[in-house]
Amino acid sequence: MNSVAKNNTFNVEAIRKDFPILNRSVNGKPLVYLDNGATSQTPQAVIDVIVDYYSNYNANIHRGVHTLSQEATDKYEEARKIIQAHFNAKHAYEIILTSGTTQSINLVASGYKSLLKKGDEVIVSALEHHSNIVPWQMACEVSGATLKVIPMTQDGILDITAYKALINENTKLVFCNHVSNALGVINPIETIIKEAHKVGAKVLIDGAQACPHIKPDVQELDVDFYVASAHKMCGPTGVGMLYGKEELLNALPPYQGGGEMIDQVTFEKTTYAGLPHKFEAGTPNICGGIAFGAAINYMNAIGFTTIATYENELLEYATEQLKALGDVKIYADTKDKTAVISFNIEGLHPYDIGTIVDKLGVAVRTGHHCAQPIMDFFKIPGTIRASLMFYNTKEEIDIFIKAVKRAKMMLS
Ligand SMILES: *Cc1c(COP(=O)(O)O)cnc(C)c1O
Repeated sequence: MNSVAKNNTFNVEAIRKDFPILNRSVNGKPLVYLDNGATSQTPQAVIDVIVDYYSNYNANIHRGVHTLSQEATDKYEEARKIIQAHFNAKHAYEIILTSGTTQSINLVASGYKSLLKKGDEVIVSALEHHSNIVPWQMACEVSGATLKVIPMTQDGILDITAYKALINENTKLVFCNHVSNALGVINPIETIIKEAHKVGAKVLIDGAQACPHIKPDVQELDVDFYVASAHKMCGPTGVGMLYGKEELLNALPPYQGGGEMIDQVTFEKTTYAGLPHKFEAGTPNICGGIAFGAAINYMNAIGFTTIATYENELLEYATEQLKALGDVKIYADTKDKTAVISFNIEGLHPYDIGTIVDKLGVAVRTGHHCAQPIMDFFKIPGTIRASLMFYNTKEEIDIFIKAVKRAKMMLS
């Protein structure tokens, strides 16, 4: 049990005690970790699950009849059920465990290579992470389908009128992230899904950046595919999920061939296993999958409403303080955002600022955030991105602001 579940109120100091890494210092200064959009930190409850797995029941799953293998299989399948419940999928077998968002997207895109044909159209948004652009370009190249892009406004908001104009009876697939990792904007995915379904197109939503802050309900959204990574929501790296509607996953060809994904193998013909195993070739990240379940349990014990309320307060505070420094340009300074501030200081290179604030113990991301088309759109080399989590504090924001102020003075 973590500290929150015990007293059921949000106490950030108690929460911080769950994260051992938050105690360390960097360059002689206390760590201020504001790069949660790249990866989040891991609570002790999840670390304990990882240690327990390797200390007590490390074994391959779905294979052995021996006790350890059964224990590992049970825990792994239990994790799948935790993930199913969290995303409200109808069936546990609609949750495919992958190595992360990137693999989940590639799994679907690779399958569609053979389902798409010349004349078909695929739509992606201008706000995508490279991992949601490149696999579709590859799928279009092979199949002869055409890739179209939903444009965005100068505020970093998707142009839904233009989107509606792009959709027609040739549209087969639409891809969009739930929250932009570069800007933090929450996209109107309900509308995007509804409009796509009017012409029978399927929709994949990349939830990698949304899931640390929002609890999506895949049935209520009526989304066709939804993907996420554990490491952005307090879990380990190298594990993630793909939700897909049963009939769509059944229609999709397998992604990789190997052990675990087969039913019968002969040299003449192989028949595939049913869901979810058809898409889970080879030995998976067993420990990672189990720890993913533990991470979801940890976050749910705090509660996503509580998390959002607290993070919004932090975001508002940080935005105000940052603007007060002057010469600051915030990209997508809108209300519908998770706790991300992507900004630049007039005349200064984001990389130089990132380097100086790191010396002061503050971890932020600088660069194009795997979303070069967004940077091209704003005609900038990149931004400084401070991305917050529920374990960040106002005091940390103050240190961050002071560090940016110092960098600004040194560089101007
Ligand atoms: C992080 C991220 C990805 C890639 O996730 P991986 O875990 O590296 O596969 C994809 N899309 C978005 C929006 C992200 O934030």
